[in-house]
Amino acid sequence: MAETLRAAIFLDRDGVINENRAQYVRTWEQLQLLAGALPALVRLAGSAFAVVIVTNQSAIGRGLLGGQMAQHINTQLVAQLAQAGARIDGVYVCPHRPDEDCACRKPRPGMLLQAARELQLDLAKSWMVGDAVTDAQAGLAAGTRALLVRTGRGSEPGVLPAGVSQVADLAAAVDHILSSPS
Ligand SMILES: [Mg+2]
Ligand SMILES: [Zn+2]
Repeated sequence: MAETLRAAIFLDRDGVINENRAQYVRTWEQLQLLAGALPALVRLAGSAFAVVIVTNQSAIGRGLLGGQMAQHINTQLVAQLAQAGARIDGVYVCPHRPDEDCACRKPRPGMLLQAARELQLDLAKSWMVGDAVTDAQAGLAAGTRALLVRTGRGSEPGVLPAGVSQVADLAAAVDHILSSPS
């Protein structure tokens, strides 16, 4: 039944959809959508791609953000996007600190692999869009293509992994993906 697998666009959250904050997004009020992100997500909703958020939230493991508040912020975000006509098919959160050495914290591919199992996704036809090199690395490790944006941490200098391009923002990433061969 491999033909029933869907391609996905995996999106990092902070720095891609909403502004990155050095001290983490710890309340719903602190979540500020980036300019152009909402219309880009509305465009994606009209595509065949599943749209899946994969976000490292080590603030949970550090005790700075409760797991329930983290869930509340994501539920509110998905609801606000849906109200505007965008569609998020799944949200995966890594709550761990880097020293916990888990399998889900990007650059590891655990969240993408779990989503692929649960949502029947075709990783080779999928894309990972992030603002940090570790996002691209997680995508490549899971077998997706990857794109980086210059918003959020994407404004910091860094070395792009081989085969990964960088575009201005989520809107440009959506343009790139929708005009690429599947
Ligand atoms: Mg980010
Ligand atoms: Zn984790």
